[in-house]
Amino acid sequence: MTLHGPGAATGDLATRAAAWMRARLKGSEVGVIGDKGWLDANLAGSITDEGLGLDDAWRVFNDVVVPQNLGLDSERFLAFIPLSPSVAGIWMDAICSTANFSAESWLEGAGAIAAENQVIALLARTAGMPEGAAGCFMSGGSIGNLSALAVAREQAAGRRTVVVADTAHASIDNALHLLGLEALEVPTGPECRLTGEAILATIADRRDIAAIVAAGGSTNAGVVDDLAGCADVAEALGAWFHVDGAYGLSAMLLPELRERFAGIERADSFIVDPHKWLFAPAGSCALVYRRPWLARQVHTQHGPYIEALRTDDEAYNPCDLGYQLTRRASGLPVWFALTLHGVEAHREAIRHGIRLAHLLADALDECEHTELLMRPQLGVVLFRRQGWGRDEWAQWAATMLREQVAFVVPTTYRGEAVGRVVFMHPRTPVAVVSELMAGLTA
Ligand SMILES: *Cc1c(COP(=O)(O)O)cnc(C)c1O
Repeated sequence: MTLHGPGAATGDLATRAAAWMRARLKGSEVGVIGDKGWLDANLAGSITDEGLGLDDAWRVFNDVVVPQNLGLDSERFLAFIPLSPSVAGIWMDAICSTANFSAESWLEGAGAIAAENQVIALLARTAGMPEGAAGCFMSGGSIGNLSALAVAREQAAGRRTVVVADTAHASIDNALHLLGLEALEVPTGPECRLTGEAILATIADRRDIAAIVAAGGSTNAGVVDDLAGCADVAEALGAWFHVDGAYGLSAMLLPELRERFAGIERADSFIVDPHKWLFAPAGSCALVYRRPWLARQVHTQHGPYIEALRTDDEAYNPCDLGYQLTRRASGLPVWFALTLHGVEAHREAIRHGIRLAHLLADALDECEHTELLMRPQLGVVLFRRQGWGRDEWAQWAATMLREQVAFVVPTTYRGEAVGRVVFMHPRTPVAVVSELMAGLTA
């Protein structure tokens, strides 16, 4: 009776956990990069036959594990793609852990799946997908891209080449490798934007194109590809058109930005990661298909006990649409936050990051030592600093972290070391812009 039920031997863990969560929800630190030697030494022996008991187990968690991480959810985490889950989403995620809705099949998790489907429908509607479009939530963009491209391959009748931009996310290359498909890389030029013309110039008279992958916001530069131009070429070639919108496609919810995503309505599949710019906790990707029945042919698993999941031809099973069986209801937190606060509150939260990106861009423009690489389209800013190379950028990042101004990671742009900042957290203070500028001009 140690593990389960009202008598589970957890002491006052519930009180500690709730207090811990409340404290974290006030805001988190930028954090540190963990020290392997120290961590290994302090965690060795934590798992014993008898158990440490609550006080010691909690102490190891709180004093050893917790402080040795970066806070991607910190309002000053401005590298990679940050996470900034909403308070409502976080509490609902904790409820998901408690309830364990088995959201792989309608048989097991109809209520949770139906709620998740409200979010899928919102995204499909906003994109302008036709009636009949459907999808599912997955654990992240990488597995979402893999699942969509597996369906693309099945439709390709032996064609094995997939057009990708030189700016495509690393997960696309990985997925193609796993699927035995071959990437044909298209150069995007100084604007870092994949266009229909660039694809045509690269493929010349090749007709073995299985799919075209475009980005609804590239991760490195935050640039939305020419989705309409890509859709034209895909249509002419009879190729699958997939849009990887893991980072930026949430921004199509903003009416003032919808036009930038023109062409998304012609995608065969697209993904959005709500754990990025729709403020869900980590582990949430929405995958949408124009013709979901094609996905079912590829992803439905068969086996002695699994056939029981096929209770009804009309039944909607997320596990038939992507490469995942047992699945947390990772769309439920974002559904709940949308239901509680409304879409407009989410739009406003997205807008904050875009506003900050423009403020930093203006400051970089005005400063004589810095140069903006391109006007930000979403929340990513790329820039040069006169006389700075890789070493100076690394120093800048180290200083910003030491002073807890921000966690930033420089990147490369066409082989050149440059500065990169990503704004996403709705509570990032405007003051961070001048603090970053001070670090650039010191
Ligand atoms: C983050 C990202 C991915 C990968 O998503 P995960 O959720 O980290 O697996 C794929 N594509 C783009 C454009 C991304 O920004």
